[in-house]
Amino acid sequence: REGESGMGEAQSVTLERVSKSFNGTVLTVKNVDLHIAGGEFFTLLGPSGCGKTTTLRMIAGFYYPTSGRILFGDRDVTYMPPNDRNIGMVFQNYALFPHMSVFENVAFGLRVRKVPREEMKRRVSEALALVRLEGMEQRRIDQLSGGQQQRVALARALVIRPALLLLDEPLSNLDAKLRDETRTEIRRIQTESNITAVYVTHDQAEAMAISDRIAVMEGGVVHQVGTPQEIYHRPATRFVATFIGKSNLLEGTLTEVDGTAGVVELPGTGRIRVDLERRNPQVPTAVGSRVVMTVRPEGIQVVAQPEGPNVLTGRVVAAEFTGAYTEYLVKAGESTLVASSADRYGEVRRPGDPIHLYIPPERVYLVE
Ligand code: ATP
Repeated sequence: REGESGMGEAQSVTLERVSKSFNGTVLTVKNVDLHIAGGEFFTLLGPSGCGKTTTLRMIAGFYYPTSGRILFGDRDVTYMPPNDRNIGMVFQNYALFPHMSVFENVAFGLRVRKVPREEMKRRVSEALALVRLEGMEQRRIDQLSGGQQQRVALARALVIRPALLLLDEPLSNLDAKLRDETRTEIRRIQTESNITAVYVTHDQAEAMAISDRIAVMEGGVVHQVGTPQEIYHRPATRFVATFIGKSNLLEGTLTEVDGTAGVVELPGTGRIRVDLERRNPQVPTAVGSRVVMTVRPEGIQVVAQPEGPNVLTGRVVAAEFTGAYTEYLVKAGESTLVASSADRYGEVRRPGDPIHLYIPPERVYLVE
């Protein structure tokens, strides 16, 4: 059970209509369906209180669902105690024993499993090598930096050769630079050990950088499951569009439809040609329908002349130079847009300046 056979095939995880209520009335998690493939790095992403930790804790076995089923492979583990699930867990606060040595901390799970002394030593040093802390066995936890402590926590989770690695906001206590480095390390270690990982975070940039796929949650429900690219470029809902990165949401009326080409009238702003294939299935395509379109700031081009279709003319409200590009807040008619423009040899527009924005149809996506 403890994986004495070494690292076998990575574990898949399935949630079937999983719900959780703590008080019998409010559902903290509502009818969640997920399939996580073996070896996948899968992230539960959403704002505070959306139910992501509760979902992770049900996968771990710390909470049992109020209804629904959880499967590891094709084995039903819904009501199996955590100790029988062969999982490794990493938490935000590391949960290490501060006065003990690195060795004692990492060896903990092996002692519980009564692994013989020699094998224990070998496996602890292997796990420490994996997290690049080789030779640190005798250090005390309180003599290590935050980043090193989190790597000890990872080694402790991995030393038991779990079938599944569960991580709950493991980087929250690290400063920005260490956070970026450690997330790259976590991904490397997960790939090298060919283990399925389920990761919880509220940080969308972190989720995009580290994940194979992401489930975006809000209010206990999953809004969308997809690769970072799918979620970024084809958001399933308005919530996903605004929670992931920056996004312009523009509401208008579909005034012309010709095959897959459409025109959206933005009241008081202008007309935008759109590609009706770039829409969520539930978005109506009848003339006269109200639609919401989204376009990313970097999808909008700043152009010299107000020529041709899909060019909106407005005024710069604010300009922020970030190095690689300048981000403009623009008032165009009744609409306010954010456009980021690659820096071209110091060409800058200032607040009050006129500006023309080209919105390419292939960068527009209809969300609602
Ligand atoms: P955060 O990032 O803030 O932890 P989250 O998305 O992980 O947010 P959860 O921790 O899953 O959210 O919590 C969702 C809701 O369930 C919250 O309103 C929380 O108060 C409630 N909740 C979580 N655990 C329990 C519990 N053991 N008993 C009662 N209510 C709980």
